[in-house]
Amino acid sequence: MKAFTYERAKDPVAAARAATRPGAKFLAGGTNLLDLMKIEVETPTHLIDVQDLGLDRIEKTSEGRLRIGAFVTNTALAADERVRRDYGVLSRAIVAGASGQLRNKATTAGNLLQRTRCPYFYDTNMACNKRKPGTGCSAIGGYSRQLAVVGSSNDCIATNPSDMNVAMRVLDAVVETVTPQGQMRAIPIADFHRLPGNTPHVETALQPGELITAVTLPRPIGGTHVYEKVRDRASYAFALVSVAAVVQKDGSGRVAVGGVAHKPWRVEAAEAAMPQGAKAVTATLLADARPTRDNAYKVPLVERTLAAVISQARTA
Ligand SMILES: Cc1cc2nc3c(=O)[nH]c(=O)nc-3n(C[C@H](O)[C@H](O)[C@H](O)COP(=O)(O)OP(=O)(O)OC[C@H]3O[C@@H](n4cnc5c(N)ncnc54)[C@H](O)[C@@H]3O)c2cc1C
Ligand code: SF4
Repeated sequence: MKAFTYERAKDPVAAARAATRPGAKFLAGGTNLLDLMKIEVETPTHLIDVQDLGLDRIEKTSEGRLRIGAFVTNTALAADERVRRDYGVLSRAIVAGASGQLRNKATTAGNLLQRTRCPYFYDTNMACNKRKPGTGCSAIGGYSRQLAVVGSSNDCIATNPSDMNVAMRVLDAVVETVTPQGQMRAIPIADFHRLPGNTPHVETALQPGELITAVTLPRPIGGTHVYEKVRDRASYAFALVSVAAVVQKDGSGRVAVGGVAHKPWRVEAAEAAMPQGAKAVTATLLADARPTRDNAYKVPLVERTLAAVISQARTA
């Protein structure tokens, strides 16, 4: 690991200002960043520990929304009574991820920003446009079984690995931030994560130094909440494909898919076909899919997982 300096931030704006220093990074639970530092995929020269900022509460707003502090742990969020009752898909998605120990440390902001699990991103001997812009993409023409089938580019076919993000997308969460200039921003989750295009190293709408302070969930939308994750083993594995859905009594609903793109994948136009079933939804959801030889299995897997989710919701 490379040498770095460390500070504990006491105030969000001061933390954001400190993060504009070249080579600076925020440190939350550290479960992703420290792993990447150990293998020198991330090489920050200064860490700003942001866990003492007091942003660790879950509060109901006067408009009936639920505001989740950036450093609420994944364990606390999944266990919160209001989340389990009104936003069950979020609770289920979080519990489907990582392990109990990791969820005790991992934070809401850190989970939103966790990096891809593309194997070439982790191997500093291999070309990777995300890790080192302009070097090429080893996954294209390489081993791509776990990688993206839709929304990818000629520069990167990585996926967003988070379970939580898929549920946040189906719930239309809003990410709240503060900039180094002290301005607050509210970024809809649909616009928060980016597609790779020709800048796969730019993964979100955050500006340099911008600190996530909270994530707000809109008022509860009712319905049956389901999260289904398909993975290589029953626990401690990232999604090959996952489906987050909220299904209403009349068969209408919302659906977002994980494991298939550089961001949680939701196409609102596809949801009109929910009452017709999984095949009709998938036809629009993955209309632009460009799978590789290794991951073409994901297209039928999305349809089958969605069929299972719709069936679960109907019998719930
Ligand atoms: C073995 C293993 C298995 C896992 N399995 C899964 C899984 O199945 N599903 C899943 O979803 N996840 C899984 N994870 C990932 C885990 O969920 C993430 O590591 C965790 O959510 C990251 O949160 P953190 O608080 O530790 O982030 P950190 O590692 O502290 O930070 C991650 C990134 O976020 C930035 N950051 C942190 N806070 C802020 C902020 N407030 N504003 C701006 N930037 C910020 C940091 O600078 C860093 O770049 C797994 C991890 C491991 C190690
Ligand atoms: S898919 Fe993206 S992360 Fe993976 S090697 Fe290519 S550029 Fe790097």
